[in-house]
Amino acid sequence: MHFYGGMRKIIITIDGFSSCGKSTLARELAKELNYTFIDSGAMYRAITLYFLRNHMDWSKTKNVTEALQNINLDFHLNINTGIADMHLNDENVEMLIRDMLINESVSEVAAIKEVREFAVDQQQKMGKRKGIVMDGRDIGTTVFPRAELKIFVTADPAVRVERRFKELFEKNPLITIEEVRSNLEMRDYIDSNREVSPLRKADDAVILDNSNLTKKEQLDIALNWANEKLEALV
Ligand code: C5P
Repeated sequence: MHFYGGMRKIIITIDGFSSCGKSTLARELAKELNYTFIDSGAMYRAITLYFLRNHMDWSKTKNVTEALQNINLDFHLNINTGIADMHLNDENVEMLIRDMLINESVSEVAAIKEVREFAVDQQQKMGKRKGIVMDGRDIGTTVFPRAELKIFVTADPAVRVERRFKELFEKNPLITIEEVRSNLEMRDYIDSNREVSPLRKADDAVILDNSNLTKKEQLDIALNWANEKLEALV
């Protein structure tokens, strides 16, 4: 497929509920377009890891603001996988942040106003030069409300549970499907009902339901949308 747009680059946002395949789509889309993929969830996960390691009581704003001053987040390209790994204060925490312990607390931490301001500020800086695909929950609404292409990904809840279960089971064969289901429901509930930047579809986002699509099919749909936007820039 030919891509129009020449040197001009756009911002593509991919939002949606947990385990809808947002990161997979965002990563593949970025690869095809030669853009940078940014997994905003990894940032909330790394902050959660720091809070847990320091046995913090994050209900106290003072603790949160103090801790954020000691947190440095960075993405570093992993040459073996071709993916940018999350680094927390110069430590590669990419594996650690995918743990179930993080899943259990991350939505609570991500609902804290100061945490969101901290993360959103860094995310906006990463988008200054455009040419990025960022996935998350509030990217099209709060982080880049003027992004050229906004995609809201959805999938049938049963399909999402099954996908996440398979992924987690590979790392931990003791995990049950019930644990995975209740964690997804809990995170979606907190993400959709928090006061600051709740998860919702931006008015100008296009919906992509991938319940019955292969990865290739969903990528082709998204690439067509991106192409339309790039053509319009010429
Ligand atoms: O995308 P992922 O599941 O890795 O995100 C982990 C958690 O981070 C989500 O459940 C959500 O609570 C939070 N998050 C968020 N806003 C984003 C990205 C993630 O609140 N933009």
